[in-house]
Amino acid sequence: MRLILLGAPGAGKGTQAAILAKELSIPAISTGNILRAAVAGGSELGKQAKACMERGALVSDEIIIGIIRDRLAEPDCANGYILDGVPRTLGQAEALEKNGVVFDRVVSMEISDETIMERMSGRRVCPKCGASYHVAAVPPKQAGVCDECGSALITRKDDAPETVKARLAVYHKETEPLKDFYRSRGVLVPVADQGSVEATSAAILKLLKG
Ligand code: AMP
Repeated sequence: MRLILLGAPGAGKGTQAAILAKELSIPAISTGNILRAAVAGGSELGKQAKACMERGALVSDEIIIGIIRDRLAEPDCANGYILDGVPRTLGQAEALEKNGVVFDRVVSMEISDETIMERMSGRRVCPKCGASYHVAAVPPKQAGVCDECGSALITRKDDAPETVKARLAVYHKETEPLKDFYRSRGVLVPVADQGSVEATSAAILKLLKG
């Protein structure tokens, strides 16, 4: 199963990608997590991406396609993968297609901007392994500590309300047109947010298996 999770920032892509990855035994790949690790590690890639990320703008298609091409060539992707947060522009979608990367399903997570603005203030992430939490909806077992690797959780700088607004605007302008692109390929599966993580993953799995 080769999947894309498409949706606005804060739609729950990371959370659902982790659940689906376990359920379907395929890796979840987040360009956001790969870039944040590069920024934290101070690599050349991290230096190039940092400023764009902090203001909620997109990193160049060229950088993103390079990251994805390398990652999809790794052996754990042989039986499929879940892309979280990529492709994010028509240019990226077209470049992937040109490179022979095709998808069985593109799950479009449908949620209002208002709900996203409410949710983002409670999001916490692990800077080490990328796991995602929410103080009310998906709390870690011990407050402020990652269940997966024990690191201290942080609030992402780009989750500040003004930056979330900018990221939503970028989503509507650059990423939402991908719905038409994948609808025309016959693989788009829209899924409405169900109000809880469990109900939303059940709805996604039902549509994927149906
Ligand atoms: P995310 O964790 O998916 O919300 O990504 C965080 C930030 O990383 C975004 O706001 C962008 O600056 C950058 N980024 C992640 N994925 C992409 C992508 N596919 N294309 C361009 N920029 C990206």
